Amino acid sequence: MKYISTRSSAKEFNFNEVFIKGLADDGGLYVPKSLKKYSTEELLKLKNLNYNELSTEIIHLFLADFISREELSSLIKKSYSTFREKDVVKISSLGKLKLLELFHGPTLAFKDVAMQFIGNLYEYYLTKNDKKINIVVATSGDTGAAAIDAIKGKSNLNIFVLHPNNRISSVQRKIMTTVEEKNVFNIAIDGNFDDCQNIVKQMFSDLEFSKSINMSGVNSINWARIIAQAVYYFYSYFKLDKETVSFSVPTGNFGDVFAGYLSKKMGLPINKLIVATNENDILHRAISKGDYISREVKETLSPSMDIQLASNFERLIYYINNSDSEITADIMKKIKQNSYQIEKNNLDIIQKDFLSESCNEEETLNIIKKNYEENNIILDPHTAVGVGAANKLSINDCVVLSTAHPCKFPDATNNAISKHENLPNELQHVLNKDENFQVLNNNTEEVKNFVKSKV
Ligand SMILES: *Cc1c(COP(=O)(O)O)cnc(C)c1O
Repeated sequence: MKYISTRSSAKEFNFNEVFIKGLADDGGLYVPKSLKKYSTEELLKLKNLNYNELSTEIIHLFLADFISREELSSLIKKSYSTFREKDVVKISSLGKLKLLELFHGPTLAFKDVAMQFIGNLYEYYLTKNDKKINIVVATSGDTGAAAIDAIKGKSNLNIFVLHPNNRISSVQRKIMTTVEEKNVFNIAIDGNFDDCQNIVKQMFSDLEFSKSINMSGVNSINWARIIAQAVYYFYSYFKLDKETVSFSVPTGNFGDVFAGYLSKKMGLPINKLIVATNENDILHRAISKGDYISREVKETLSPSMDIQLASNFERLIYYINNSDSEITADIMKKIKQNSYQIEKNNLDIIQKDFLSESCNEEETLNIIKKNYEENNIILDPHTAVGVGAANKLSINDCVVLSTAHPCKFPDATNNAISKHENLPNELQHVLNKDENFQVLNNNTEEVKNFVKSKV
């Protein structure tokens, strides 16, 4: 499969470039040049596959020139052997809704599903080509943990994770900082998440530095993450056995819900994709009335969704404009100036596939409380936002993506119901182990020097 950038269709790329670079040189995101569309008969053939088999079928479409089907199949099997759930994900009921539990991986959030896979994909590529890379990533908690677990102990790569000092939950921090492998480096920055992200961006754009250490990223624009996430939309559709299914997706960077959109474009009979946001509601304003103007980021109970500009939205802009990269590049300029209003005809196209809702802090706490009282289920605050959005829109046959284990956010659940879930046994050890992280100032040069001294 060939790929192009959302901002220029002139140049074609192979999967290895898409995977290792993440972002195109023109600043655009990679998208496939064309997509496979499954017929009803072809979908029927996928229906009874188990999760690993289904992953192999779908993912192989996108990287057939990168890895053989047999090697991919064993790589996927290895990736998901780290999950506590035999079939990787689990579907449960919550009143009239279904929950798609995506948090049974090693670090208790949905990001493990893609990250365990790409950790092994990196190792496969690097050992085969005798290359070494250094991954640098900023995290508000979940991404860093998932990336560390996926990359710890792997050959030919190191990982450096920047988190904002004292601004993530202690469970989140301990999952990252108690890892002992020598290729893992935790850095606590005296600043907030945006500061961490800015440092990483500056490191990437210093080409002399980033080339000298073969720097790579694993953030949610990486196409390999998106395709691994598409699998569970197919899987849930088959399990529900309905003509069409809708999904409510707790959304930050628009990566997870974009994987749903991709599945729909590939022929999966999805009715609506519900974009569920917390008080950082730019995507809700955009999808409901075309207002894509960013405001200050607010800290909420669901920190992994505290984002203003959602990077993956660029891919949607590209598709709704008939895959026209010139129009996409123009719109991205407007977004950079914070002056983009979605035109009426484009909004109509978006609303054919998407609905949106937002839940404020009080609503989120009430949803946690109500579902505990009525269903005896403790929801994490991100999932609660997804449930709240689905309830407000009351659509039939709706699956809510349950993106984190409630034990990861004890403050939110304590606040709502004076209770918290315990960590699963497999993770209890992180509570008492020694932590290892370096505190650095909010200063890019200081971070660069630290990284250089370690590679
Ligand atoms: C990252 C994350 C999200 C948001 O996913 P996006 O792909 O960024 O939209 C939602 N919930 C949890 C728990 C997360 O970690």
